[in-house]
Amino acid sequence: MAARLNLDGEEINHLKVCMIGAGGFIGSHLCEKLMWETEHTVLAIDVYSDKIQHLLEPGNPWSKRIEFHKVNIKHDSRLEGLIKLSDVVVNLAAICTPADYNTRPLDTIYSNFIDAIPVVRYCTDNNKRLIHFSTCEVYGKTIGSFLPQDSPLLKDPAYYLLKEDQSPCIFGPIEKQRWSYACAKQLIERLIYAEGAENDLQFTIVRPFNWIGPRMDFIPGVDGPSEGVPRVLACFSTNLLKGEPLKLVDGGKSQRTFVYIKDAIEAVLLMIENPDRANSHIFNVGNPENEVTVKELALLMTEIYCKVSGELKPEIPTVDVSSKEFYGEGYDDSDKRIPDMTIIKRQLGWNPKTSLYDLLESTLTYQHTTYSRAVKQMISKSHTS
Ligand code: NAD
Repeated sequence: MAARLNLDGEEINHLKVCMIGAGGFIGSHLCEKLMWETEHTVLAIDVYSDKIQHLLEPGNPWSKRIEFHKVNIKHDSRLEGLIKLSDVVVNLAAICTPADYNTRPLDTIYSNFIDAIPVVRYCTDNNKRLIHFSTCEVYGKTIGSFLPQDSPLLKDPAYYLLKEDQSPCIFGPIEKQRWSYACAKQLIERLIYAEGAENDLQFTIVRPFNWIGPRMDFIPGVDGPSEGVPRVLACFSTNLLKGEPLKLVDGGKSQRTFVYIKDAIEAVLLMIENPDRANSHIFNVGNPENEVTVKELALLMTEIYCKVSGELKPEIPTVDVSSKEFYGEGYDDSDKRIPDMTIIKRQLGWNPKTSLYDLLESTLTYQHTTYSRAVKQMISKSHTS
């Protein structure tokens, strides 16, 4: 492989990346990228490895460059040793499914704040660079959400565009436990930022805006608990695979921007390989062009799923459910999430490429190929039992 050059034309040394949460959705795509397109080495840490099993099989050209360590970072003394061996630490580990935020708020806060503290401390103490995964949820609600619905100001980007260095973080009251996740992520961001300011920690903070693609979460009853509630892509995929209407929480009026995982991973690789441009920055990583309401997403996914699976269009594509019924007490939501892209464009020259239609088409083709037979078997089993 020819030597890789960074954005400033300098040769990139082979790096040892300690990736915590490597067995999850984003981790699995980042591991693929690092194995297939670079010569970097990965110390992959997680409690699960199913999503990267294909990379861990012996005999691959990259086999010597990836090592899996089954470590729960809550209580495993091997963590500091693995961090000491690395050049850069990428921390992805978290509980990050909205259904958990209000039903398991303690686990959510411990996972997103308390459990991340030793990682930050070991990086500071051992002078290691940290790329920490936060979330776009730290912005909470937009300023515009407090304006009357007919206010002309709602069209002014100043009231909705989310800027890393200017926008406030606006959460709901404490009894709306949904905000436990966003608040824990915000506090760990502040801790990392302070470690940078007071103790010279080299850090980059990533705020993903709805990254989606293959291997996101699980299909309940097939490769995850039957009662589990994954994030929206897997919830809607489950409904489509089962041939049932897609459940729209509170009418599906929230607006979201979706970015294809493969585009987003390009941005993470740029951060890994360009420390001088990425250090001390917080980056929004999303696709402002791909904005839809959740209802529009449901209808588009239905149309594309019918195309890729050959199923007929359903007569009733969606049903409304209340957030209390779907998520339980204490749920709340952010209205709209459009990332400002100025900082990531300026520092890393990154732009997402994939349209919403294209990213849904490739993702739903994967969902159909991977799961449709298993879902049909599950349905016929439940009919006979
Ligand atoms: P994921 O749930 O698929 O992956 C997280 C991984 O961390 C899982 O494999 C899990 O087993 C592991 N993990 C959790 N706790 C651990 C522990 N104590 N010890 C070891 N491993 C542990 O989630 P993802 O979508 O890949 O997200 C990764 C990160 O990005 C998270 O921090 C999340 O908050 C953030 N994020 C993702 C999105 C997105 O669009 N996917 C959006 C916002 C934020």
